[in-house]
Formats: sequence, structure tokens, C-alpha cells
Amino acid sequence: MQGKTLKAMAAGLCLIFATAGAARPGPILESRAGSDEALPLRVALQAGHWRADEAPRELSGLRRNGTSWQGMHEWEVNLEIAQRAAVLLEEAGYQVDVLPAVVPRAYRADLFIAIHADGSDDARASGYRVASSRRDRTGKAHEVAELLGSVYGEATGLRRLTTTTRRMRNYYAFNYRRYRHSIHPATVGVIIETGFLTSSRDRAVIVDDPGRAALGIARAVQAYSETDLR
Ligand SMILES: [Zn+2]
Repeated sequence: MQGKTLKAMAAGLCLIFATAGAARPGPILESRAGSDEALPLRVALQAGHWRADEAPRELSGLRRNGTSWQGMHEWEVNLEIAQRAAVLLEEAGYQVDVLPAVVPRAYRADLFIAIHADGSDDARASGYRVASSRRDRTGKAHEVAELLGSVYGEATGLRRLTTTTRRMRNYYAFNYRRYRHSIHPATVGVIIETGFLTSSRDRAVIVDDPGRAALGIARAVQAYSETDLR
């Protein structure tokens, strides 16, 4: 499993290096080097369901869930997108933590983005959705989720579903009252269901072209860093 992850990472890096010399309109992300900000933004990208089998007792319900499609597990798709977005953001000067399903206790960062994929028995179900923490104490999570929703859609061309589920807004990692392994209340928490693993249209992005999904997330982080929300 570890070998596979490293291989996937290496493949991602190769792709980025391979395209680095190609002509394109401008940098994928503007570098933050030399910016006026004293400290780089610290961003967590959580690969949903990754290493969920390590969940402590308080989160034992996590150990067996996540969607799948023809033997492909959701966590693999989430991790691939998270790692690619992390590379883009690190190159642009951000501090990035790629986190597994179990968040460090009272985890603190400027921004926490949980990355997931949906699944449905209906192969026609398609689209992505974003939500903010119902317990947001920063006053920023809703606007950050809206920003992510619009930037991810531009980057991927996928359709946005405006219906968010209670499960998203009550996501366990946002629930600092109930779980020790959750984000600190000062951390802005948002979650994205990047598309349906059970939809061929959505798989064309999240499975076959994960760099595009990663770019959508990385650009949303950058857009956030440029607003006065941060
Ligand atoms: Zn999930």
C-alpha cells in the first residue's frame, strides 16, 4: 500500500515536471515567495478515508466506510488529488499537511479541506458539492466553501450540486466538541465531495485527470489567501 502511494506520488511529480517546460499562459499558481505576508498560510488537505483502519475508539465508525467503484477505493482517489494539490501549493510557498482520516488532536491550521468522492447506485448521479462546518467559529468557513465551490467548478467543468448533506456539515473532523481527533475551533473547516466515483462523467476528471481536480482545490486556496478573509 505504501509502495503504491509512493508510486502514485512519483507519477504525479513526473507529470508536473514533464509539463513544466510546455508553453502555457502563466504559472499554475503564483508564488508567494516575496509576498508581504510574514508567515505562509498553513493548509491541511485531508485525504478522506485514508488510513481509516487506524481510527481510535472514539472514531471506530470510520474504519469501514467510503465509496468504491470496480475495486477502486475512494481513499485512493482522494489521496491522489490531495497529494497533487499539495505539490502545487508547496511549490507556490504554502505550508501543506496531507492528513489521513484521523486528524491529529485539536489540529490547527489556517484552513482545513476534507477531500472526498461521492457514490450512488444511480450511475447518472453526477456533480460535486462543498459544505462548511456547522460548528464554524471562525466566521469564514461558509465564504471559503463558496469560493471553493466556484473555483473547483471552473477548473474541472463539473456540475455543482447545491444540496449539501447533514453528514457533510456535521463532518466528524469538524466536531471538536465530541472528538479529540478534530480540528481546533480556530481552524476554518470545509469539505468537498469532488464528484461521483460511480459516474463516468465525473471519473473522467477525478480518476483519469486528477491533476485538474487538484488544480481546482489549489487555486481555491490561493484565491482564499488573496481575500481579506484570511
Ligand atoms: Zn468519503
